[in-house]
Amino acid sequence: MTDTPAATTATNSTTATDPAGPGDGAAEAPQPRRRPALSPSRAGDFKQCPLLYRFRAIDRIPEPPTKAQVRGTLVHSVLERLFALPRGDRSPDRAHELLAPTWDELSRESPEWAELFAEDETGPDGNAVGWLDGAGKLLDAYFDLEDPNRLDPEACELHVETELGSGVRLRGYVDRLDVAPTGEIRVVDYKTGAAPRAIGEAKALFQMKFYAVVLWRTRGVVPRQLKLMYLRDGQDLAYTPDEDELARFERTLEAIWSAILTAGRTGDFRPSPSKLCDWCAHQALCPAFGGTPPEYPGWPEPTGGEETVLDRAD
Ligand code: SF4
Repeated sequence: MTDTPAATTATNSTTATDPAGPGDGAAEAPQPRRRPALSPSRAGDFKQCPLLYRFRAIDRIPEPPTKAQVRGTLVHSVLERLFALPRGDRSPDRAHELLAPTWDELSRESPEWAELFAEDETGPDGNAVGWLDGAGKLLDAYFDLEDPNRLDPEACELHVETELGSGVRLRGYVDRLDVAPTGEIRVVDYKTGAAPRAIGEAKALFQMKFYAVVLWRTRGVVPRQLKLMYLRDGQDLAYTPDEDELARFERTLEAIWSAILTAGRTGDFRPSPSKLCDWCAHQALCPAFGGTPPEYPGWPEPTGGEETVLDRAD
């Protein structure tokens, strides 16, 4: 299996350079180039609707962030900081104290996020008052599900990447990785999104199996548990994968990547309407809603569709 629809050569992530780089002869250092890789978010997009994948990964049409997505990013960030504190200090009060400074930092890095809030929604310090309260409720729901003082994660917001035997590269970010003294691995994902759990559950399990395959291939251990924590409704879901299942899932990922490459050659990314269209930002360009997609721009060397921080906060 090749990496791109065009007959290009696969490149190494640390040494290869972009052949179409600066052409003015200036002595600029060649920029490292990342190999195309499948992420759980983009694989999930293609599975849900090939045209949605195209809009996000190829046309890269900007999607305005929603308040729910930004709140999810904030809550993920606070939980990451909470686990940086010593055991015993990880209390609900401490988590609430972390909200405002973490939001200050995030909104400095992405000022457009702060612009989501009208002046009448912000307090004297400029923070979005009611919205921060909503983030606080998600944190309270987290503490109802788990006592963070009883565990020390191996990592939070962990970048994971591997290449399957077929050459398909997989890349993603795990919210939290817990490793027991026995070596057993638990993958934890916090869900804060607005979509009803029943609609998002299959998508979430797909994402978790994706991480399980990457960890299995990089560490040689099948994760003991995949745990989804739904902070909006205060429920969790634990799932135990087995090796045969992950081997089958690996083949599913290879088939998805192969289908993406096939569609990438021709631009034939078809709409696949479903209930999830309610959360799609591209209805105006979608034939299923009477729209017309822009002209196909061709395959986007070299990424194949990266995840964003907002993807990770679904
Ligand atoms: S509106 Fe629905 S069918 Fe159209 S691109 Fe979005 S998800 Fe696909």
